[in-house]
Amino acid sequence: MATTPSILASPIEYLKGVGPLRADILKKELNIFTFKDLLEHFPFRHVDKTQVQLIREITPQTDQVQVAGRLMSLHVLGENRAKRLVGELRDSSGTMELVWFQGINWVQKSLEVGKEYLVYGKASFFSGYPQITHPEIEAFSPEKSEGKGFLEPVYPTTEKLKQKQLGGRQIGKLTWGLLTALQPADIPENLPDKLLQSLNLIPRYKAYNDIHFPANFTAYQNALNRLKFEELFMAQLRLNLIKSERHRFSHGVVFKQVGELFNSFYKTCLPFELTGAQKRVLREIRQDAAHGRQMNRLLQGDVGSGKTIVALLSMLLAVDNGFQSCMMAPTEILANQHFVGISELVKDLPVTVRLLTGSTKAKERREILAALESGELNLIIGTHALLEDPVKFKNIGLAIIDEQHRFGVEQRSKLWRKANIPPHVLVMTATPIPRTLAMTAYGDLDYSVIDELPPGRQPVTTVHRFEQARGSVMDFIKQEIAKGRQAYIIFPLIEESEKINYENLMRGYENVKAFFPEPKYWISMVHGRQPAEQKDTNMQRFITRDTQIMVSTTVIEVGVNVPNASVMVIESSEKFGLSQLHQLRGRVGRGSDKSYCILLTGNKLSSEAKERLKIMTATNDGFKIAEKDMELRGPGDIEGTRQSGMLNFKLASLLQDKQWLDAAKQMAQQILEEDPDLSEKANERLKRFLQSQKGKTAWSKIS
Ligand code: ADP
Ligand code: MG
Repeated sequence: MATTPSILASPIEYLKGVGPLRADILKKELNIFTFKDLLEHFPFRHVDKTQVQLIREITPQTDQVQVAGRLMSLHVLGENRAKRLVGELRDSSGTMELVWFQGINWVQKSLEVGKEYLVYGKASFFSGYPQITHPEIEAFSPEKSEGKGFLEPVYPTTEKLKQKQLGGRQIGKLTWGLLTALQPADIPENLPDKLLQSLNLIPRYKAYNDIHFPANFTAYQNALNRLKFEELFMAQLRLNLIKSERHRFSHGVVFKQVGELFNSFYKTCLPFELTGAQKRVLREIRQDAAHGRQMNRLLQGDVGSGKTIVALLSMLLAVDNGFQSCMMAPTEILANQHFVGISELVKDLPVTVRLLTGSTKAKERREILAALESGELNLIIGTHALLEDPVKFKNIGLAIIDEQHRFGVEQRSKLWRKANIPPHVLVMTATPIPRTLAMTAYGDLDYSVIDELPPGRQPVTTVHRFEQARGSVMDFIKQEIAKGRQAYIIFPLIEESEKINYENLMRGYENVKAFFPEPKYWISMVHGRQPAEQKDTNMQRFITRDTQIMVSTTVIEVGVNVPNASVMVIESSEKFGLSQLHQLRGRVGRGSDKSYCILLTGNKLSSEAKERLKIMTATNDGFKIAEKDMELRGPGDIEGTRQSGMLNFKLASLLQDKQWLDAAKQMAQQILEEDPDLSEKANERLKRFLQSQKGKTAWSKIS
């Protein structure tokens, strides 16, 4: 179906008042390339010029205020860190202070003493005086602006844009111009009438107008709600479509039976009773793999919840059904550990296992590749090396990806292409993502969770100590070592400089060595600059208890399993994010012994860092931590969700708009249940809209 190109697709330089020069800056600074991009550059608030408060009315209880007054003076005060720009603003009722700590020169140049300004910001009191720090400020002209209603939009902008006369105001003018040139047909409705009615949503064209230039706050709120719902709903619809397409059309290998291998492992090799959650997940996997369609399953389980054994049993299931399987880990250390652990577990069974990583020697590599291709090899464990082209399987039936947040979707699909019928895929992660978020971000995957720890685990006791207490922390480690335990001491990785990292780590290592002299103590050190071999040796010495202390950067973050270790010390822990801290802590408390996590920090802590430390010392529950993490950082930044591309909402927030998210989910499901192909007349708009969103949907199967 051919469609006439929409006026909204026009390059931004063709908009009246833009031209090539300004277009360049709009592209660079705000990613505005087309008319549509400008339309979707939404204001972050509106100024109601009729709602100006008097300075006298500001009380310590006041939050945000808008005042209008004359700038009486403007001075730079203080020096160095205390250096600030202070302005005095006076209206008919009193005076207040405006304060800037940053951008002092620029602000000073752009303001003029004696002029009237409209000022907005968070009011506070300082020695009895009301003030606003870093206010939004603009020249004040009391007359109403050009028939736009009373609410003037304020747009995000940058210093560079302001200098090219593209401040928030000018952007508003461009948007106003664009909207007056558009017809309702240019912003066609994309939701079915029934849906609009049942949720009381305003039409799309009106929503785009009102979100920029509303007549009042209710109109703005209605526009915002409508557009938020649309975002969430279309995302849900897309995810559901992808999933149902996969369920309906994808071919998968069939694991018909639970066979000899699985059963004899279960009876004779399994070193413990599976937890209820592990059994449930195995059942889910078995059912999924038995139906002739490809399994794509995300398995979430907190650190130490026992995902590996579930993976192994699933691989044995594949072998029982005549298929090969692979397990891929993000680092060589991890791949190696899985290989050693799994080889040991299956040593009495008729099953072949090999390890393939970047450092596998050429000769061995040739052997492995040949055995894989001939089908002689049943299980292969490895790193990214498994994705390379020369790696060919005779018949791969299951691919397991451990700690998937380090693998992109792109890489996942490389695995699929290694067989005519794509193998089942099980993606395992211990980076806990709140359930609602996981369902949204990975809506195209089926989802299992191990929400139960193996019995007998004691929660890790976590404390926060300032670095002055390092001495007593080291003494504590000595006590634990005297009991036969081992300890980790972790140093942060600073992204900017590998050199600084290395130097920090070396200094830390020397420091630790001073506390723990040889030959009474032995220390392993592992870091990113070491050759893989050396890393392995050092790791191995710790695993076999040759060394009592492991000094490391975060390379050991995921998956490493040394149950005898009982102390985790994290240096400069204020520099770590919550999910990383939780991962690191998960390296201890893996055996039956009491374990400890000690978070060392400097004395200066941001309020966010304090909050993180508070959460870490209060709970061991990865899912609670993930919820908190999402609150602190916003869902877009949560590890593991970024690449999903499903969370880049312009307006909606998965956290704050939960009721809209729920409504969107429910409506999307309902519509697709009644009309899976969206072929009914009532859903015509949806279909057309999704078709216009090329590349975002695997739409080919439904046309
Ligand atoms: P993760 O989910 O973090 O990958 P692992 O699979 O490494 O966890 O398991 C952590 C530890 O718990 C391992 O030492 C493993 O042998 C042990 N384990 C797993 N399942 C059970 C169980 N059901 N009972 C007792 N120990 C278990
Ligand atoms: Mg693991």
